[in-house]
Order: sequence, then structure tokens, then C-alpha cells
Amino acid sequence: MGDGVRADPTIRREGGSVRAGVDRLLAGHRSGRVAARWGAVRGRAVALLWHRIRPEGPYAHEAVRAVASDTFAAQLDVLGEIGEVVPLSDLEESRRSARPRFALTFDDDDVGHVEYTLPILQERQLTATFFLSGRWREARGPYWWELLERRVRDDGLAVVAAAYGRPEASDVPSLAAALTGTDEARQLAATTGTVGPESMSGAQARVLAAAGMEIGFHTLDHPSLPTLPDQELMAAVSDGRDELADELRTTITRFAYPHGHVDDRVSDAVRTGDYRSAWTTSKRMVAGGEDRMRLGRWDLSRLDAAAFRLALVRGLARPGP
Ligand SMILES: [Zn+2]
Repeated sequence: MGDGVRADPTIRREGGSVRAGVDRLLAGHRSGRVAARWGAVRGRAVALLWHRIRPEGPYAHEAVRAVASDTFAAQLDVLGEIGEVVPLSDLEESRRSARPRFALTFDDDDVGHVEYTLPILQERQLTATFFLSGRWREARGPYWWELLERRVRDDGLAVVAAAYGRPEASDVPSLAAALTGTDEARQLAATTGTVGPESMSGAQARVLAAAGMEIGFHTLDHPSLPTLPDQELMAAVSDGRDELADELRTTITRFAYPHGHVDDRVSDAVRTGDYRSAWTTSKRMVAGGEDRMRLGRWDLSRLDAAAFRLALVRGLARPGP
């Protein structure tokens, strides 16, 4: 689960002019100024983040909105048009490249990773990193927000939001965001839920790893790490990591912060845990010389292909990381 970053509202307002604007920017030869700007973005590197992909797109009760398979495929085509898709490890090496580089990452033990995402990646011969919890190993059941989603599905948002004392929550993502890191979320996380259709199985995870996808770690319980005392923090960063790697016959060297939540104490704990890199949900490019434990990822997953392209081009053209 991410940090609930919303799409840039200015993108939608531009409507029909989106394509024209991007074409102008991409066709750098028409304007020296734009060409110079595009020249500056060539060597830039961006890690992108998705959570759930499924053919029919999002359900109304979801805290983490799914992306329709067709939309996801079109987003990948945009990446291929603008730049090249590379392994996440490649972004950590600063190298000269003629085109922007993009790496694909997916968070959480979601059933769609193998059923829907993997075939789309394989069709295009793309590789990606999946940050997993390995909850099937411990029979942990659904994540806390998946239990929240079930309640909303059964009782409706208004009833559930009122029950949690958040009647102002206008949609499920904002209710989940309000509960993240609270005692209510911890109580939900401690609730034993039956494994549902949203949960990934061990057999599925093995298929992902066997297909050559990188597996990273995302903690077993998906807590907001800055809220944990030291000992629990250290345990969250490491408990289940080696067992997951052994089961999937791989090594795990990368970490993604649950909910994107991180502070200095948390990133130091991950550094101590011997990870090569750790990934937030801050919308920053990957540039040389930054803290490897605080690398940024962009969640543009909700945007249709035209808006996705525009957000990428604009983001890449922005000065600084
Ligand atoms: Zn997550």
C-alpha cells in the first residue's frame, strides 16, 4: 500500500491539449528551447510504483485502487516510447544513457501480480521488482486494509467510517489513510482474517521469482514503521525476510517502506539490516549521490495513458531530483 498520492489535478483540466503538449515536448527539433530541455532529461532515472492490476479495474470498496490491465499495458507502452525500461538495480548505477530510464516496482502480496501483471510484463519481455511480505508463510491472512475493504464492501463506507469515528472520510482511500499508523489499524492487523481472493499464495510467489522477477521485502505486517519502538522496528525490517528468500530460492537485497513512511531512525534500521537500497513513495528521480536508503518512486498508476505520459514528461523536465 502506498501513501495515497493523488494525480496532479491540473493534468485532467487540460483535456484535449494533453497530447498536443506532449508531442511538442517530445518533438524537440521544433524548438531549440524544448530540445535543450529534453536533452537534460535524457540521463534521468525514475522508479515507478503500482499495487494492483486486474482486467476490470478498481472496485468501489477498495482502499488501494486497482488499475485496469489495459491501462497498465498502455502505460508500459508510453514508457517504451519515452525511454527504456531497466531493472531496478540499474537505476542505482549512475551511467550515461541516451534516453530516460524507468524501473517497474509492485508492492504487497497481491493475487493480481501473477494472474494479470506477470503476463503483461512477459509479453513485452520486461522485468520488475515485487516487494512482498510473504504473509502466506505465516498464515497471516489479509493485510489490515483488506479487512477494512471487506467491511466497507459489506456495510458501506458511511457505516464503517462512522464506526471508526471518521465520518468525514469521503472515500475508502482517505479512510484508510486516516487509519494508517493508528491503534485501529494495529487492531485490524491483529485480527485473524481468512485468506481471501485478494491474497497471494506461496505457489504464486514462486512463479514470480522463477520468471526472473526480482523479489524485495516489504515487512510481514506492513506497519507504519516510524510508529514502532526500536526493538519492534528492527524485527519488522528483518522478520520473515530470509525465510521468504529461501522459499523463493532467491536473495533479497532491496526494501520498500510500508505506506512509504520513513524517517531517519527507520532508514538507519534498514541500513543496519543490510539492504542494498530502500524505496519510499516520494516523487523524486533517482540521481547519483543520494542516500540509497531513501530512494524515491513515482505512483502515477491512476493516470490514463495520455495523462501518464504528460506527468512523466513534465516530471522528467523539472530541474533537480
Ligand atoms: Zn504496501
